[in-house]
Amino acid sequence: MSSEVSESFLQQSEIFRNVDLNKIRSQFDQIKMVQAQSGQTILSPSSTNHFIYILVKGELIICLQERISQAIATIHPGDCVGEVSIIDDRTPSAYVKASRNSELITIHRDVLTEMFELQPQLAVNLLKLLAERFRQNNDVLVNSIELQQEYRDKAERDALTGLHNRTWMDEVFPRQMELSERIGQKVTMVMIDVDHFKNVNDEHGHLVGDMALGHLASVIQENLRETDLLVRYGGEELLVLMPGTIISRAHVVAERVRALVMATPLTLKNGKQLEITISLGMTEWREGESLDSLIERADQGLYQAKNNGRNQIQILT
Ligand code: GH3
Ligand code: MG
Ligand code: MG
Repeated sequence: MSSEVSESFLQQSEIFRNVDLNKIRSQFDQIKMVQAQSGQTILSPSSTNHFIYILVKGELIICLQERISQAIATIHPGDCVGEVSIIDDRTPSAYVKASRNSELITIHRDVLTEMFELQPQLAVNLLKLLAERFRQNNDVLVNSIELQQEYRDKAERDALTGLHNRTWMDEVFPRQMELSERIGQKVTMVMIDVDHFKNVNDEHGHLVGDMALGHLASVIQENLRETDLLVRYGGEELLVLMPGTIISRAHVVAERVRALVMATPLTLKNGKQLEITISLGMTEWREGESLDSLIERADQGLYQAKNNGRNQIQILT
């Protein structure tokens, strides 16, 4: 490496910070400058790497796939790449590509090792860089776990009401029932269905129907306890599993919810109030009983509530 510019640049780069360049001058002629065209791959998991690259000009990106250039990190002048793979002697864990025409200083691992002996500060700097990479990787990991959680949430929640859906119910309800059985807890199930909901759609349109469902979901959710598990079971049908609640106690809760729904109309754009009522069927879980059988009995209760004139609760024992 000959030019003065590069030497003053080295001084400013992270890896050569506080390193006495005079002490390692004899290694300089083994350091090379290379050009990389925009799009060029510099490091790849499919080939062994023996060099550390310090970016002088341009920009590099780190990505997990070769074709999809979605960067997980961007490398700016003064930063370096390749340091992990030359130390653990394994192929790089990601792709490093030039995102612009770039200029790089390359140092072979053997030259770097010689420099370590002459200037231990260089090794300290490298350790710091590695620690930073380690943290960056952790951040990427945390972000991807959060993203996964978000996708999972999307798959388990209904977009209209924000309530959990049947996919979630199928996973959580049986587990809760198993737990309740183990600790000898009573469980009550309530099935809720909106009365004459077809009329709401017919009279006010489907959009208002949707809003009414969202409204209903929040009124109900706000008036249940944290331990009550509420799901959107079907179109305008909701299901509540109440662990640790005997039916007489659950009846009090259900009655309060029924009265509140009736007393909390939805205010429409034209200022009018849309009142909705619900019918409820409820039943207590029998030890060893399956979820399907429990739902079926709650549904029979609901059917009776509808037949008896709606806006009421029927208990099936
Ligand atoms: P009942 O008192 O017997 O339950 O009468 P109903 O009109 O509520 O019963 P039915 O099952 O005949 O109709 C349910 C209606 O709910 C029909 C369907 O269009 C509507 N519905 C279901 N899901 C949605 C939804 O997500 N949005 C809207 N706007 N309407 C829905
Ligand atoms: Mg209905
Ligand atoms: Mg229905």
